[in-house]
Amino acid sequence: MKPTVVKIDNLVKRYGELVALDHFSLEIKEGEIFGLLGPNGSGKTTTINCLLSLLSFDKGEIEVFGREMTPTSYDIKREIGVIMQNVAVLDELSVRENIDYFCGLYIADKEKRKACVEDAIKFVGLEDFVNFRPKKLSGGLLRRLNIACGIAHKPKLIILDEPTVAVDPQSRNRILEGIQELNREGATVIYTSHYMEEVEQICTRIAIMDKGRKIAEGTKDELKGMIRNSESVSIEILELPDDVREKIAHLPHVYETEYDGTKLTVRCSGGRHNLIRILAVLQEAELGFGRVYSELPTLNDVFLEITGTALRDSKE
Ligand code: ADP
Ligand code: MG
Repeated sequence: MKPTVVKIDNLVKRYGELVALDHFSLEIKEGEIFGLLGPNGSGKTTTINCLLSLLSFDKGEIEVFGREMTPTSYDIKREIGVIMQNVAVLDELSVRENIDYFCGLYIADKEKRKACVEDAIKFVGLEDFVNFRPKKLSGGLLRRLNIACGIAHKPKLIILDEPTVAVDPQSRNRILEGIQELNREGATVIYTSHYMEEVEQICTRIAIMDKGRKIAEGTKDELKGMIRNSESVSIEILELPDDVREKIAHLPHVYETEYDGTKLTVRCSGGRHNLIRILAVLQEAELGFGRVYSELPTLNDVFLEITGTALRDSKE
């Protein structure tokens, strides 16, 4: 059994009347890339700020590396690398100086620090920009600098709060691959996002948050196993008589049909050959149809089934 790196127990955080975290608990083991997935306002950043003792809370307990986390737990904080949601770098310093500055908060030895800074520059791919001021960097490169500042001291626990928002696809991929690389090298990672695809791509375990509560937790396969939906079949079709739709709705494993005049969506719970059975009904009725595709459930379907609203609908 791997040691526990982070333990959050029954955390309650209020901002006045608003309950931002409502008895939120979490346990993260060494070696995980743990995803906190939830729409904007669900409480991800509040969780991170409480975890780092940057924010006081109303109730609950937090342990990091098996020790209680307090505002003065500097020995714990030294082992943590944080990449905040809002980029925090110094405008007057160059890329290299910024990384050196943040690394210097943890590593006093000059030679050792120099090696760490160069490693971090290479790691995020900023070799060509070391003398640039942050203002001259694109959004994606600025994010990479932010990450380099957070990881240069080689922390055991790395926390990234929505590091890919407003980032171009190239930097985004580089960031996601970088996180996996850091994890392979031994770091435990906490990754927050409202992008389900990213969380699905890199996280070993995921907690889905909504309105300050944890609504589900598990690996992506476990999460998908919790819901009824196991396949959605979509068919572009311009004419669909009610009796034909009825027939499809009564096929085995079908629990929901949706038709908007151009596309029929059929949601199925389990079972194979759903697509074949549905198409057979259409062929028997001699109806023409266009593109046909079948999709496996996403984390959005998990969110949708549990909360009744789509994760995608949240404001970007
Ligand atoms: P997320 O990071 O998932 O987008 P947050 O943790 O930032 O969510 O916010 C959770 C809830 O707490 C939201 O409803 C937000 O409006 C509220 N909130 C966050 N920070 C403050 C604050 N400093 N004062 C009052 N309300 C806040
Ligand atoms: Mg946030």
